[in-house]
Parts: sequence; C-alpha cells; structure tokens
Amino acid sequence: SDKALIVTLGEMVVDFIPTVSGVSLAEAPGFVKAPGGGPANMAVAASRLGGKVSFIGKLGDDTFGHMLADMLEQNGVSGDGILFDPEARTALSFVSLRADGEREFVIYCDPEKDLRLKPEELNLDILRSARVLHYGSVSLMMQPCRSAHLKAMEVAKESGALLSYDPNLRLSIWPSPEEARERILSVWDKADIIKISNDELEFLTGSDKIDDETAMKLWHPNLTLLLVTLGAKGSRYYTKKFHGEVDTFHVKSVDTTGAGDSFVGALLSKIVQDPTILENESKLREVLKFANACGAITTTKRGAIPALPTEAEILALING
Ligand code: ADP
Repeated sequence: SDKALIVTLGEMVVDFIPTVSGVSLAEAPGFVKAPGGGPANMAVAASRLGGKVSFIGKLGDDTFGHMLADMLEQNGVSGDGILFDPEARTALSFVSLRADGEREFVIYCDPEKDLRLKPEELNLDILRSARVLHYGSVSLMMQPCRSAHLKAMEVAKESGALLSYDPNLRLSIWPSPEEARERILSVWDKADIIKISNDELEFLTGSDKIDDETAMKLWHPNLTLLLVTLGAKGSRYYTKKFHGEVDTFHVKSVDTTGAGDSFVGALLSKIVQDPTILENESKLREVLKFANACGAITTTKRGAIPALPTEAEILALING
C-alpha cells in the first residue's frame, strides 16, 4: 500500500504472566505466555489501528523467536527486517501483577547475547522508506545493538523520517542507574519526539516534582514534541509553542503492562498520516485524547499485545 511507513527497531520478548493477579512470582500457580517488549507492543498497537508498520530486529533462532515473528505477521506487521540468529537467545520476562494493577518484572535476558543486531545487518531499504522511526528500550543501551540503532537513526533521519524515542527504562537490568541515565541522555538530542513516563522524568532529572519546570529540564532545541505519561492522570505535552495536559478515561485497570507503548502506537499511527498534528495544538490534543484512551483500554486486560484495542473500541470509550 502507499500508506506512510512506521519502522520500529528493537527487542521482542516473551512475557510470562501469572494466571492470577495480586501475587508474587513465587506464589503464582501458573503462567500464560504473551508476546511483548516495548518496540513490539508499539508496532502491534500502531498496526491494529490501521498503520503500516515494519519491525527491524534480531531474535534467537528458537521456538520463542519464531513464535514472536509469527505473532507480528498475524498482526499485520512486516517482519522483512527480522533476522534469526542461532547464537542468540530470545529474551523471556516474568511479569507479576500486584493487587493494584502495577507490575514487577524478572527478566531472563542477557542483552549482549539476545540483542546481537549489528550495524551492517540493518535493512537499509526499510529504513530509507520510513516516515517515522521508533526506538528505545533495552536494545538501544547495549552493544552491538546500540551501534546498529545509531546507524538506523542516521539513515532514517537522512531520508526525512521523524525519530521517536521511548527510553522504556527497566532499571532492574542495569548494573548502575548512573550508567543507564548517561546512555539515555547521550541520544536525547537526536529525537524529534520523546515519550517518557513520570517515573522516567523523576529518574532522569533527579527531581521528584512532576511539573512543567522539571519537564523543561529535559527540553532540547532539536525536539518537536516531549510527552510525559501520568498513568491514570493522563498525559502532558510540550512543544516549542505550546504545552498542556490531557485527561485520560476512567477504566477498571487489571494490568498496566504496555500502556505506554500502546499510547505511543496510537500517537504515531496518527502523526505518520498527518505530521501537521505536531504544529497544531487542538489537533494534538485530539490525538492525545485518542492515545490516552488507547493506553487506558490496554490496562483493562492481562498482557500487552492481547489487550491492544482497535479504533472502534477507542472511539466507543471516547464517545462514552
Ligand atoms: P508507562 O506504561 O510508560 O508507564 P503509563 O502507565 O503512564 O505509561 O500509561 C500511558 C498512558 O495510558 C497514560 O498516559 C494514560 O493516558 C493511559 N493510562 C495508563 N494507565 C491508566 C489507567 N489506570 N487509567 C486510565 N488511563 C491509563
């Protein structure tokens, strides 16, 4: 089709989710498998909303890797940029759901083994046809995948794509918080669009005041749109010309996994069709309402990808 292309780059993982909520991992009576990982969640979210999406990454040439690639294909995401590596091992993540719907992770992942994508292995044709390149998460933080990301960002940018960054911080896999902060901030000024959560805002600035002044500490001159997601309180947006907050919708949350990825998927599915959204506050507020609703619905079911909504479900929530 001649639709504008969203390309996402990064890792995919298999999430193991306890069959009951509100227990620790050790107490879980059983688990269900669900595909996940920030970049993959975002890819499927945008695809389910009618976006044309292509995924670039590397998976283990194992049962879990093929399960993930099949899942992307079933969800309409092109896997032409996926490589399978017999030496790699697909990452697994055990996600426990606390009684309040918040989540905890134990990740079985060695980024240097799991994420072996090298710069010379990138599919440049896909990158050159991207209108938006989305990246972030674990795979941007570790070599050799980090170099592959930096090259992909350069190639896509040169071809006129917007770069969208979500650091998707998982501190538990980092040797030190300082190192994580430094690696995140070292690619900060390359992105046109950045989405962070309120926790990431706190982590990156060292300030526990979630306000405009704190957010502005992360502004940089190359940035077009900075978003801060606030869970059940909605989201805030900052551009060169305007800033504000958009409320989300009241839902019964059971699992917040993937809410942020789903929010970004909804946002990018709209921006890729009409980049003037970035310059027009009333259009942007409409789109953020849509993205908030998308994030909200994602929290109403277990797992990320199984919970991602269609456009009709989002409109039903918005129109009450
Ligand atoms: P992350 O997954 O990155 O921590 P959030 O949890 O803030 O991101 O969720 C992203 C967006 O999804 C929020 O900005 C909000 O619009 C929506 N959302 C998340 N949790 C809820 C909730 N409990 N109720 C309603 N909307 C929610």
